[in-house]
Amino acid sequence: MNAENIVKKHIKNLPVYETGKPIEYVAREFGLDPDGILKMASNENPLGPSPKAVEALSSKLSALNYYPDGGCYELRQKLSKKWGLSPSQFAFGNGSNELLEFVAQCFVGEGDETVFGAQSFIVYKLATIFMGGKCVSVPMPGLRYDLDMLRDAVTEKTKVVFMTNPNNPTGCVVKGEEVANFVRSLPEHVVFCYDEAYTEYQDEEVDLRPLIREGRNVICLRTFSKIYGLAGLRIGYGYTSEEIAGYINRAREPFNVNSLAQIGALAALDDTDFVKESKRINNIGRKQFEKAFQDMGLEYFSEGANFVMVKLNDAAGAFVKMQKSGVIVRPNVGYGLPDWLRITIGKPEDNERCIEELKKSL
Ligand SMILES: *Cc1c(COP(=O)(O)O)cnc(C)c1O
Repeated sequence: MNAENIVKKHIKNLPVYETGKPIEYVAREFGLDPDGILKMASNENPLGPSPKAVEALSSKLSALNYYPDGGCYELRQKLSKKWGLSPSQFAFGNGSNELLEFVAQCFVGEGDETVFGAQSFIVYKLATIFMGGKCVSVPMPGLRYDLDMLRDAVTEKTKVVFMTNPNNPTGCVVKGEEVANFVRSLPEHVVFCYDEAYTEYQDEEVDLRPLIREGRNVICLRTFSKIYGLAGLRIGYGYTSEEIAGYINRAREPFNVNSLAQIGALAALDDTDFVKESKRINNIGRKQFEKAFQDMGLEYFSEGANFVMVKLNDAAGAFVKMQKSGVIVRPNVGYGLPDWLRITIGKPEDNERCIEELKKSL
């Protein structure tokens, strides 16, 4: 029996998402002790998980025999107060990644188009192809968004425009006013999906709630995977119009956000000290990398979020050599940037080690 003839064509052609290489994989491949390996590949929080979340989780393990609250009631109430939006304007996902898929499932069908930056999060592409849609990937000169080009790519067939700010993997930042003007320039048949995975690392967060209140089709996505340090729990949320939140609510499975994720997220929202410290460490680390790249005479891109990009003559070679020394960074071949490595900013001592190994690998 050959399933090849019955699988949908666009599923067969779907590229596979390559995650940052897990520590255990590198340990097995290179015969290393996993405890000595430093992972700077997936923009995870180098300080670990939010301590408040860990404390809350450990007291709730005995309730795992129960299904989670499919409606995320407590989290919804808390976020409603935090953002001054109605509880019914929120949608929750098993990571914000799942919400990206829901957006595609709700709005993208066969022949529809989505528009996004060519060097922007690869899930926009995967979610589109999965639904049989067509990707319109817009060049990003100098690793930055060109909003005019992005706008020009929008046609009658466009259903969703995806943007992440700060962008992953380049880290470029677009000012709030420019984002708002861009959204106001979009036709009514387009949903603007604004991915805010790294927004907490910025001093000034862009606020698109006025656009949502104006009745524009905007959905903003947040995650607990980055500054809150809860990537392993898998939880993210979107805030949008009541109408769009309602559609997403229909696309999800009844218990898509597990109970520990809800408890962890609830506690993490109160962990302002942890968020502050994560940001502080990140700012220090960024300067460390920038100075090191300047000293080495390497071209780099460093602007927002919790990572930096560096250009090398042999990025693939350096990627392997650094792994042998127990440091995992991220190649960018899938983003059409084979000469660039993306490095997640760590604690000062992690950054030192990474810089040393990078030097040795050149
Ligand atoms: C990390 C990241 C996310 C968050 O993914 P989760 O599924 O919430 O872990 C979303 N968008 C971008 C651009 C990211 O880099």
